[in-house]
Amino acid sequence: MKDSKPGVNTRCTHMGGLEDTLYKGAVSPLFMSTSYAYEEVEVKRYPRYFNTPNQEALAQKVANLEHTEAGLIFGSGMAAVSTALLAFLRSGDHLVLPRQSYGGTQNLVQEEFDKFGIAYTFIDQTRPEDFEAAIRPNTRVLYLETPSNPLLYLTDLQAVADLARRKGLVTLIDNTFASPINQNPADFGIDVMIHSATKYMGGHSDICAGAVAASAEHIDRIFQLAKNLGGSLSDYTVWLLERSMKTMGLRVKAQSENALQLSRYLRDHALVSRVYYPGLEDHPGHAIAREQMRGYGGMLSFELGEGLDTEAFTRALRWIKPSMSLAGVESTLTLPAQTSHGLLTPEQRKTSGISDGLIRFSCGIEDIGDLKADLNQALQLASQAVAVARDK
Ligand SMILES: *Cc1c(COP(=O)(O)O)cnc(C)c1O
Repeated sequence: MKDSKPGVNTRCTHMGGLEDTLYKGAVSPLFMSTSYAYEEVEVKRYPRYFNTPNQEALAQKVANLEHTEAGLIFGSGMAAVSTALLAFLRSGDHLVLPRQSYGGTQNLVQEEFDKFGIAYTFIDQTRPEDFEAAIRPNTRVLYLETPSNPLLYLTDLQAVADLARRKGLVTLIDNTFASPINQNPADFGIDVMIHSATKYMGGHSDICAGAVAASAEHIDRIFQLAKNLGGSLSDYTVWLLERSMKTMGLRVKAQSENALQLSRYLRDHALVSRVYYPGLEDHPGHAIAREQMRGYGGMLSFELGEGLDTEAFTRALRWIKPSMSLAGVESTLTLPAQTSHGLLTPEQRKTSGISDGLIRFSCGIEDIGDLKADLNQALQLASQAVAVARDK
């Protein structure tokens, strides 16, 4: 029989589990020990060494799903981002990253990197030539985030990986929005994949965690810093995250299908002026998305029609709730102008393309008919509020 690789749902369910040899239970046993024998053992285990049985098993699952040799599990997405970045940068080095990167990542760089003597350049557009133009003799790392938050810009993974290889640079990507279900940057030559596991890996809005996947050599380099910084995850949460990841393939597929359908529905809706979703043919990154993504993801953004009141709209929603985070099985939305980009001036928001009426939408797994009906009734109510205000 041909030795074919198991499908992604089989790997989500089975890879990196721990066998219950004692009772033959179906799920991984949970080892909560923070104290392990050190005599006559091959490995000295300790939670902050990232090598308890449950931590190692889950790291294997992540590595398997990201098509890499090794992985590490962190206490938050930002623990993963900060540790991975600092592992490859030292005083005197330079980093290139997109302006459209996650707010916490921008804060980390802008608020902390000066004191480490690490220089950085934010680029407004993320075409390969934009990365190339920002490279200096002391550049060490190119940092990517695609699709990006909140306008879902795309970056060509293969082209940036090729550029980095030519210049001898390391590439890191925040792959949170796509998840390993929709995108495996390692297949295109990207070196280090970073996830906020708080999002699609956890998927139920009840876990805060992070993950990194890369070659064994790169993971060892990140680990050497990680054990000193101490951003490991509690084994109980590791165990919960392993359970969550068994359904990640099913969840993300349902979320991506809902997002594609909703993006088309909203594009054709008279009370919506603009939709941003890589799955729409007229999205500027659509061709790149087709090349490097299996699904277009569960995140989309849209702008309400002229004069529609965003507050009246969000208040009228029944199932869909305004919420800071994303990627849960329940649909949520945020207004970037009030949350992630609230500290920017109106001019800065405008240059970033963040209008006051922009809504970032995280698709859940609800039935698509209910989501459409909920959005439609809220849009109708918001437009009536405009009419009432006008008639007064
Ligand atoms: C949430 C998020 C992070 C940070 O993750 P935390 O788990 O909140 O620390 C990083 N990148 C992206 C794209 C995110 O959405």
